[in-house]
Amino acid sequence: MQKFDVIIIGGGIAGSVCAKFLSRNHIRTLLVEKCKTPRPKACSGIQFGYFARIVGERFPADKLCHHQLRKVEVHKPDGSSVRVPYFMYNFMRDVFDDYLNQVAQNNGAVFWDECAYAGHEETDDCVNVDLKLHGRIESLSCSYLVDASGLRPVIRRKLRPGDFRTTSSGGTINYYIEGDSVLDPETLYQFWNLDWNNQMFAWVYNKTVNGQDLWVVGSGYDRDLKMHCESFLSFIRNKYALHGRIVKTEGYSSNIEFDSSDRVWLGQGRIMMVGDAAGLVDVTRGVGMDAAALSGRLAARAIIAARSKNTNAMDEYVKYTRKMVDQTRRNQSQGINRLSTNEALLEHMRTEMTRVNVRMAVNFILNRFRQPENITLLP
Ligand SMILES: Cc1cc2nc3c(=O)[nH]c(=O)nc-3n(C[C@H](O)[C@H](O)[C@H](O)COP(=O)(O)OP(=O)(O)OC[C@H]3O[C@@H](n4cnc5c(N)ncnc54)[C@H](O)[C@@H]3O)c2cc1C
Repeated sequence: MQKFDVIIIGGGIAGSVCAKFLSRNHIRTLLVEKCKTPRPKACSGIQFGYFARIVGERFPADKLCHHQLRKVEVHKPDGSSVRVPYFMYNFMRDVFDDYLNQVAQNNGAVFWDECAYAGHEETDDCVNVDLKLHGRIESLSCSYLVDASGLRPVIRRKLRPGDFRTTSSGGTINYYIEGDSVLDPETLYQFWNLDWNNQMFAWVYNKTVNGQDLWVVGSGYDRDLKMHCESFLSFIRNKYALHGRIVKTEGYSSNIEFDSSDRVWLGQGRIMMVGDAAGLVDVTRGVGMDAAALSGRLAARAIIAARSKNTNAMDEYVKYTRKMVDQTRRNQSQGINRLSTNEALLEHMRTEMTRVNVRMAVNFILNRFRQPENITLLP
């Protein structure tokens, strides 16, 4: 039976970053991804500047879209808007995650794509793991098993089925549109309006798909998703003279209990959850890749620390992630899904978001002086 120190299930952001930091510290790591790579992933692929520091890489230009984002334009429900200069990375997840898989391998990780988790059994001193590779089951063992399999986490669903609904808890649709418009390709447009999105803002931005620049118009809702997204698309088409044809439509739905008080769960024993699998995606912040990368990096640090200090890796992981977990739980109670009218949303933006913006400005500055593992996630 093949043995690894750590087996990571899921070759997205969290899994790849975890694999990179383990391998560079000589921890024998296997990273597996169920899809053939590069694999498509429904995601806006937009991140704060600090993301590169958490991942610990300088991102090559050819892994990013043609246009990086340099402005954010926030549209309020009463039609008013504010525009602020703000840099954000802009990339497609198929290209970017493939690059991160490569980064993990360059640091020494073993990577298998088209390889899916098929089961595990934890003993006192190891975890026996079954993987489905090329149609047959491979049995391996490891000291730690990391679930980095995203919002439908395979291991967590097995260990804690009660954390998931039987129906969808919400979804998103992205329309990719070709053609000219009066939109600025370096601006992230955010539209806060409960007629279009009752979880966060509805969005418009520019993306490079197979070398072609396309406009992406998208939104999310916890019910009647298509109706809300089509209404937003028709508004954007009129407002910005966006007449081109839809060349691709991308949808996503989740069944994790976003409202549950223990949505964030870091694992147990020798099984660790990272990224979305840990419930760290934050609808209030509108992003999750930074939390995925940071949790992957901190899980690696916890395993390394536990080996050198002969302590418990889960205890170390809980300690290192406390700030991020507390923030996610705090944000969870402040989501706009509690609000029922656009007047209430406008008032929320006036009061709550002003506080958020001040905190964001302070942490934006402080983060420059913090070590990557101590970065405070924005906003
Ligand atoms: C529509 C949408 C837009 C978003 N936009 C943004 C954004 O702009 N910025 C941002 O920061 N975040 C965004 N997010 C959130 C972001 O996508 C996630 O937080 C992030 O992808 C989490 O990374 P992860 O590595 O935990 O999981 P994932 O990126 O989902 O990776 C999990 C991987 O595990 C693999 N896997 C699953 N099951 C198995 C199995 N059984 N065996 C092996 N492998 C398996 C999957 O194929 C996948 O590759 C968005 C999410 C959605 C849905």
